[in-house]
Amino acid sequence: MKRPNIVILGAGFGGLITAVNLQKTLAAGDANITLINKHDYHYQTTWLHEPAAGTMNPDQARIYINDIVNPSRVKLVKGIVDRVDTAAKQVTLEDGSVVEYDYVVIGLGGVPETFGIPGLKEHAMTISSLNSVRKIKEHIEYSFAQYKTNGSSDNSFVTIVVGGAGFTGIEFLGEIVNRIPELCKQYDVPREAVRIVNIEAAPTVLPGFDPELTTYAQKWLERNGVEMKLGNGIKGVEPGVVTFGPLQGDTTETIRANTIIWTGGVSGSPIIEKSGFEAVRNRVMVEADNRAPGHDNVFIIGDCSAVMDPASNRPYPPTAQIATQQAHNVAKNIAALINGKSTSKFTYESKGTVASLGHNDGIGIVMGKKIFGRNASFMKKVIDNKHFIELKKYGLVLKKGKF
Ligand code: FAD
Ligand code: NAD
Repeated sequence: MKRPNIVILGAGFGGLITAVNLQKTLAAGDANITLINKHDYHYQTTWLHEPAAGTMNPDQARIYINDIVNPSRVKLVKGIVDRVDTAAKQVTLEDGSVVEYDYVVIGLGGVPETFGIPGLKEHAMTISSLNSVRKIKEHIEYSFAQYKTNGSSDNSFVTIVVGGAGFTGIEFLGEIVNRIPELCKQYDVPREAVRIVNIEAAPTVLPGFDPELTTYAQKWLERNGVEMKLGNGIKGVEPGVVTFGPLQGDTTETIRANTIIWTGGVSGSPIIEKSGFEAVRNRVMVEADNRAPGHDNVFIIGDCSAVMDPASNRPYPPTAQIATQQAHNVAKNIAALINGKSTSKFTYESKGTVASLGHNDGIGIVMGKKIFGRNASFMKKVIDNKHFIELKKYGLVLKKGKF
């Protein structure tokens, strides 16, 4: 009998863990496993706010895929997926090459959602890949350098606006306030010239999260010099200028800022729509076993998928935690199908949520208990290192882990 081809799209949190688990569960002769990814490395999406602010070397957040998978068991194809043709059971790459599959796992992650806000896509930067955060870091440093060469009179060179106070926005703000003293010293910029402004459409930071913890985060940011413009949405961006105001109503204000960073939300990969899947913001509501509705051999995980939270009757927010748990379930389900067995149901078990506020502070809820300050910061580092354990690469904890 022909060996089935399993093709995994994306080597992010979901895709890489699917590959590692399939490699472990299946015998070499059971199936061909192919992993297609834009780069020959995996980046820790959950760490990107740190290299963006320049508080971590980007290489710490990068792991070469062939150091994780066994290349004789998992064939890595470095390429950009263009679309999935479910009728022909083929994946087409941007270079025109075609990969045939018997089972496909779509784990292509998310992209920044700009909600059609004029100028945002063109003139704001996003924390979305290793390349995008390297650009942010370099841009901030160059802007600080320009402050002096432009006569030290134009504060917009050292004004940073962050749109959105969700977890990504808050964690980035935490890092950048940690970095500002070093930047000021390096580029001879007086601290009082620097403005860091957060514009959030909702009346609070981290809307929907525990009020005591959101208050803690907001006060921490204010104490560290962040100007909070809560209840204000970004309405438009032009080069170096942000227009904002309450989303209901016509009142607007502007801020001149050389650095504009958008953290206002994510949607799934555009490959979802291009491949003809029914989805909301490119997130497919998957079946109980993580398959796409109507497709027996298509699994969708991570930010491209949506899993209903029975408690709220809304999809769970897209996180690495859910992507990882789905990956374990999907690897098990594909192995079951290959062995003529039935798939098992996926049940998400939230282990909690922890967010950093710079390197030594944070907030979170772990096993129902609220944590703040150094305890939260310590817990965040433990969670960050846990990914290496999931990848079964214990040495990486020492090499790349956080302490
Ligand atoms: P990703 O991990 O993003 O991986 C997608 C992969 O697909 C990437 O390797 C990408 O290069 C590749 N790819 C994309 N398009 C193509 C294409 N067309 N062709 C080929 N390859 C492609 N979640 C948590 O649970 N805890 C946290 O603490 C946390 N912190 C976060 C901090 C930040 C700054 C951000 C931005 C997100 C954070 N998240 C966190 C959310 C979490 O990172 C995502 O939900 C998670 O990474 C989604 O996993 P994924 O496998 O779907 O996609
Ligand atoms: P998000 O959707 O969680 O937050 C986006 C924020 O932007 C919201 O607060 C929203 O009100 C605001 N916003 C939307 N439109 C706006 C506008 N026009 N102007 C100003 N503000 C606007 O997005 P995110 O923070 O990028 O997070 C994406 C996912 O990743 C989430 O599921 C999140 O839980 C997860 N994440 C988790 C962690 C963690 O657990 N530590 C860290 C980062 C991200």
